[in-house]
Amino acid sequence: MQLTKEQFIRDFKDTLHEEQLVKVPAATPSELFTTLAKLIRKYYTSTWLDRNHALSDNKQKIAYYFSIEFLPGRMLETNLLNLGILDLVKEGFADLDVDFEAVKTAEHDMALGNGGLGRLAAAFMDSLATTGYPGFGNGLRYKYGLFKQRIVDGYQVELPDSWFGSIGNVWEVRKDHDIVQVKLFGNAYLQPNEEGKLVPVYDGAQVLNAVPYDVPQIGFENGVINNLRLWDVEIPEEYELNYPTIDALRTVRDITSTLYPDDSNFEGKQLRLVQEYFMTSAGLQTIIKSYLKQGLPLEQIHEKVSVHINDTHPAVAPAEFMRLLVDEYGLNWDAAWNATVQTMSYTNHTILSEALEKWDASLFKHVLPRVYQIVLEIDNRFVAEMANKGVDPAVIENTRIVKDDQIHMANLAIIGGHSVNGVAKLHTELLKEDTLHDFYTLYPEKFNNKTNGIVQRRWTQISAPELSKAIDETIGKEWRKDIHELRKLNDFVDDKAVLENFYQVKQEAKARLAAFIKESTGVEVSTEAIFDVQVKRLHAYKRQLLNVMHIVKLYNDLKDNPDKDMVPRVFIFGAKAAPGYHFAKSVIKIINELANLINNDESLQGKLKVVFLENYRVSLAEIIIPAADVSEQISLASKEASGTSNMKFMMTGAITLATLDGANIEIKDEVGDENIIIFGMDKDEVYRHYATHDYYSRGIYESNPVIRRVVDSFVNGTIPNIQNEGMEIYEALITHNDEYFLLEDFPAYVEAQERIDALYRDRQTWSRMALRNIANSDKFTSDDTITEYAEEIWKLKK
Ligand SMILES: *Cc1c(COP(=O)(O)O)cnc(C)c1O
Repeated sequence: MQLTKEQFIRDFKDTLHEEQLVKVPAATPSELFTTLAKLIRKYYTSTWLDRNHALSDNKQKIAYYFSIEFLPGRMLETNLLNLGILDLVKEGFADLDVDFEAVKTAEHDMALGNGGLGRLAAAFMDSLATTGYPGFGNGLRYKYGLFKQRIVDGYQVELPDSWFGSIGNVWEVRKDHDIVQVKLFGNAYLQPNEEGKLVPVYDGAQVLNAVPYDVPQIGFENGVINNLRLWDVEIPEEYELNYPTIDALRTVRDITSTLYPDDSNFEGKQLRLVQEYFMTSAGLQTIIKSYLKQGLPLEQIHEKVSVHINDTHPAVAPAEFMRLLVDEYGLNWDAAWNATVQTMSYTNHTILSEALEKWDASLFKHVLPRVYQIVLEIDNRFVAEMANKGVDPAVIENTRIVKDDQIHMANLAIIGGHSVNGVAKLHTELLKEDTLHDFYTLYPEKFNNKTNGIVQRRWTQISAPELSKAIDETIGKEWRKDIHELRKLNDFVDDKAVLENFYQVKQEAKARLAAFIKESTGVEVSTEAIFDVQVKRLHAYKRQLLNVMHIVKLYNDLKDNPDKDMVPRVFIFGAKAAPGYHFAKSVIKIINELANLINNDESLQGKLKVVFLENYRVSLAEIIIPAADVSEQISLASKEASGTSNMKFMMTGAITLATLDGANIEIKDEVGDENIIIFGMDKDEVYRHYATHDYYSRGIYESNPVIRRVVDSFVNGTIPNIQNEGMEIYEALITHNDEYFLLEDFPAYVEAQERIDALYRDRQTWSRMALRNIANSDKFTSDDTITEYAEEIWKLKK
């Protein structure tokens, strides 16, 4: 956009005076942030308005991305960057003597997501706008996002994250004229109308208003602004008398109060089903309304609309769409079904069976009586059609939607849509071969892969400014617009000056993180140490415990031999555990107690440090990731669908230490075997154990003295204050036969860590590996991922 620094400074002062009645030197960071946000809203409003009009006038096909989570983090810097005025604003602030960093940190993370899945949805919003495709998000406006994590006495404590704070969400716009009504509960039955046609009657239903708030999604320097639409709940005026008490009101407000904090586990709670249906129904109703304004026939809606189901949380969509088309708009079943299947597409995010959504039929019927009838009808017709085709009854039983008194949501999403994708090559293969194999035999044409991606702008230009400058100095600035230019860095892997420059850049990022660690935990760490980082949700399959076991081994080694020759290490963790996930919370406690023990043991001579940074979230990731030397991606092969932090680390020049899981495999393909450290079992070896039932962790424990000593450390007092937690870990590893095969992978992991130690000693070799990683990370830009979705699944035009 056209703007001079002088104009910006004038505008900024005017806005501050008008809105806050305060002058710049006296204003707080929060006042300055709000003012800046309001000002840039003014700058982009007409573009946003034009975009919304252009889309409805041009009758373009639009994709709607339905997701129960969006995790954008802070928006200020990304909005400024994409508007092309980030540098100008920073310069203007310098003239005004305002600290941009302080203003930026006054923004609260928009944390309406748990982890990778929500972050991916947010990345896709940015990339849809940046690539220029018409794609809108559809989600929930939670008052409290994911909980805020505090560590007290080494334990995780969960606090509500009131991210609205006193200033609310400065980016959103409430859209009153798009309010729709959503019906829940009651009874539904069919009754003939005057013309003798059967129509549904809703008896005693709860009627709620769904109120949309639009958050702009600004494309990178291209004048495109899309919407992320978040729904809130309100009670319609005419039903106010139904809620005479605060408690009654609260049951409604709960619908958009908090995000379920469980990342990989299905809970089956009624409120969650209500949340899922509420946002799905509201979204689909508005989609149909705005489509009909174009005067086109409803049975062809799939030519102008795509609805994407991000994981199964919005998977009620095919049934709800059928309800709307058939009940509300009078389409016949077959025409409606054809339109539904061609409109819907679905992404599978996990093969963990405990994460699959299966609603009890009785609960589903209680909450959504009419949708339940439609699900039964879809299921009946599916079974009849397959039987007609002569499909093996076992396959039909395995793929149908309603069985054992449960509604299988993934099955509904697959049958009710035209596309099913996994999120990395290995994951899609596993879906086809194993988890969804029967579906694959029925509908091979529906299956495809779309490897996840990341918004490179946030992870380089915003979070790694020194690195970005070094890239500019090496290959020019074009990469900021076209990330594939990064490949040119491959020409410099033998240029000593360039390698040294990138090494120094990493040291600067490490110094920044070291200062942050000192300030937030009091622990002093040296930037001469290897910064070895594992940040992600805490889950047994991600195997933070394997990392912990290695730290315990190093500790034991150093206690035996204080002169052990090793490059100093700082192990850095960040992880939230689901509040009800006992094992995960025990691992957090153990990491913190181990950190206490190690960081205060002078005999270790600073060779070992352990840091747990509390409240891991996007804005913290932006400080940690660019400072990492080693990226820990050590999940049990086959369990991590893709991973995306692995891509962020790669892009900022960390060396990946990984199992052959998820997108780690594709990272290896990009950088070559010599620029990544791979260890441990692959997916075939893991599956072989499952098939032969031959894994016996106690056998390993008893025969390997190193492992035995490490495992015993959890229960023999070596690590203080973990009596219960240590026992829990011991039992998981030995008594319950080590579900994620840590003991089997441990020796290979230790050996891989020794390779890291050796490689890091050769600064040039290490820097070359790092540069190779940066140079080939363009592969994982979400701009390209979203282009594949747009072209291959949604069939959009720019
Ligand atoms: C990228 C990201 C994740 C995903 O991390 P994985 O290691 O891929 O599980 C989770 N949380 C935050 C805040 C992130 O930025």
